[in-house]
Amino acid sequence: MAGGSTLNSFQIAQQQLDKAAAALGLDPQVTAVLREPARTFILNFPVRMDDGSIRVFRGYRVQYNDARGPAKGGLRFHQDETLDDVKALAAWMTWKCAVVDIPLGGGKGGIQVDPSTLSEREKERLCRGWIDQMWKNIGPRTDVPAPDVGTTPQMMGWMMDEYCKRVGEYTPGVITGKLVGGGGSLGRTAATGFGVVVNIREALKVLKIDPKKSTVAIQGFGNVAQYVARRFVELLDGKVLCVSCWDRGDKKAYTFTKDTGVDAKFLQSITDQYGTVDKTKAKAAGYVLEDADAWLSKPATIVVPAALGNAITAENVGKIQSTVKVLAEGANGPTVPEAEAALLKRGITFIPDFLCNSGGVTCSYFEQVQNDMNFYWTEDEVNKRLDEKMSTAFHAVYEMSQKKNVDMRIAAYMVAIERVASAMRMRGWV
Ligand code: GLU
Repeated sequence: MAGGSTLNSFQIAQQQLDKAAAALGLDPQVTAVLREPARTFILNFPVRMDDGSIRVFRGYRVQYNDARGPAKGGLRFHQDETLDDVKALAAWMTWKCAVVDIPLGGGKGGIQVDPSTLSEREKERLCRGWIDQMWKNIGPRTDVPAPDVGTTPQMMGWMMDEYCKRVGEYTPGVITGKLVGGGGSLGRTAATGFGVVVNIREALKVLKIDPKKSTVAIQGFGNVAQYVARRFVELLDGKVLCVSCWDRGDKKAYTFTKDTGVDAKFLQSITDQYGTVDKTKAKAAGYVLEDADAWLSKPATIVVPAALGNAITAENVGKIQSTVKVLAEGANGPTVPEAEAALLKRGITFIPDFLCNSGGVTCSYFEQVQNDMNFYWTEDEVNKRLDEKMSTAFHAVYEMSQKKNVDMRIAAYMVAIERVASAMRMRGWV
């Protein structure tokens, strides 16, 4: 069950869809198609470990809906990965691509594994093993994976290579989030965090809050959180009060706070590839280490949960201070419904996950376009297009929420569902 909620993450995703479908007055037959994934793959496959032994890994791929284009979405490597989580994430990818209006459907996949327990060569064999299972069912015109929690641009490179060998031709568009120079796009690494900050910028505009006087408390210090922290200062000139980071050694998270504001670029320089910050170096640079939940009770203008799902629960939601005006969901599914209801009552503006963190997949789409043309853009060009897409999406959702008098999450669903439903109608599916 999800963070004290009685529902699992897929049931939460279905409940959100039902609410928005009702608000839209959607034909129940269309809702029925949208409530379940189109195709689900469950894989169990052997990988040879460095010591010569064989280990069986469980993997998934869910192609949720491809009415608007090929299924699109990341691969998550996490020890607690469940099929319900992957289904929820695949549904959210469908709404994410639709809300930001890129011609792609939704999918998600993963492997039940803690990648930090594997050597580089074991990780490579695991990635190639996943492609060995799935290559016939993915492709640039069918289903396009990408990185997510626990996966990296290097892993995408191995996967692309394995796919190309199977099909016998260079096909970089089969997977996105690759290394620059290996088919990747400039700007992709920072894209999700950049997109979160563009959303925050637009939200502050409509709420008439000066970004320069605003502060943010961030949960997480993985790829998304790192670039939220950096771009919040670089683009908005705001102050980052804290970030929270998982410590692999201690198996717990800490909140890193600094009075003068967090310098995310510095913290990145002392963080390993799995997001663990060197505590000694951080302390020497003036950071105070507080407990895992301390980020929630900071007197910030904006809070950004940018780690895993179910971070804000019925139990801890009361810690959020009255200074908080915006909750920007960098992670997928970070707020359980009970906590969301309490925060909406307090008048907090949500930037819902699949709108807020859609910068990554939008840049993935640009990467595919560049792969197809075999012509690569400058970073400025990528960021300019990304900014345009994200701002347009934010305002489409904001207008819907004003027009229909619904909260931002329901409004985002309404915008997305209308687009997916109309593509299904045009194709004669419903
Ligand atoms: N994993 C990212 C997400 O959840 C990116 C997906 C992609 O680029 O396809 O949005």
